[in-house]
Amino acid sequence: MKTIAAEPPALWEQRWHPLREEWVIVAAHRQHRPWTGAVVAARGPAGVPAHAGDCTLCPGNARVGGAINPPYTGTFVFDNDHPCVGPGAPRDLPPPPPPYRVRPAIGHARVVCFSPRHDVTLAELSVEAIGDIVEVWRRETRVLAARAEVRQVLAFENKGEVVGVSNPHPHGQIYATNFVWKTVETELNASLRHRTATGRGLFSDIIRAEQQDGRRILHEDDQVVAFVPFFARYSYEVYLAPKRPVPDIVALDDKEVAALARGLKEITVRFDNLWRMSFPYVMTLHQAPIGGGDTGAFHFFIAFHPPLRRPDLLKYLAGPEIGGGNFLSDTSPEAKAAELRAVPVAHYTLKGVAP
Ligand SMILES: [Zn+2]
Repeated sequence: MKTIAAEPPALWEQRWHPLREEWVIVAAHRQHRPWTGAVVAARGPAGVPAHAGDCTLCPGNARVGGAINPPYTGTFVFDNDHPCVGPGAPRDLPPPPPPYRVRPAIGHARVVCFSPRHDVTLAELSVEAIGDIVEVWRRETRVLAARAEVRQVLAFENKGEVVGVSNPHPHGQIYATNFVWKTVETELNASLRHRTATGRGLFSDIIRAEQQDGRRILHEDDQVVAFVPFFARYSYEVYLAPKRPVPDIVALDDKEVAALARGLKEITVRFDNLWRMSFPYVMTLHQAPIGGGDTGAFHFFIAFHPPLRRPDLLKYLAGPEIGGGNFLSDTSPEAKAAELRAVPVAHYTLKGVAP
């Protein structure tokens, strides 16, 4: 059992989120009941079979829609059986009274199985296997972006029951939509404004600021960098980005793909090792919109948003976030980065890793 270092005595300020162009209230001074090392029962592979007969994602099993999964041995991609956007969405929609508007929910929703194994998570896969997942994201982005109606390809992973995922089989999703998601629209507009004002890339400036401070950086090599951003809204929020400004994952070269895979491995292992449990998160690829417009200012990155503040405590979105629209953070990004930096980079379920 280890004890986490106490939070700095007083961090009480607002921090500007330059990508969202909004303030984050950091009120770490009122962090009460410091966590002393007790964890909920470690949830790992124990008791979870390598292949589950009732899993709709395991090789050879039937899916919700009745199709049978092939006996895949690596990654496996298929069209979501219950898509939120799809080519078959109704197109002939009666107009509602103003100011209301409707439009068809056209697009493509795909599921990406990360592994044939039911009992592993991304953190437990080899760097090579994670590289295969990055390759799937590249290929799917390229293929889906070529479709006339697609304006954005959003790849993400929801991991853990606390973010609503009941099936532990490691998988992510891809939505290719006929609209640009609000977050990316905001980030693109912020990046364009920053470039007009300074002549520089906004995300490149963020990376530079993180490097200058150094305390929040978790991983860095020649190609990529990962950090808890200065303006983190969630306690253990982490950004992973190529240093070279590229608009999307398709633009990465092979070296950068390999570096991204190493970065993904290291971050997810650090997450799991923090409390020696499978660490829940929402991970999203932030990619530039497709087709038309000036997207050259957009800098591709991957964001992790873990919902837990402690092993037994969720970050709830409440009055400030839902009603007010700005995040209230109870924790110091510097202290949370220090916790993540302090854990080993070998996954805790591997034999020989010290507790
Ligand atoms: Zn499965």
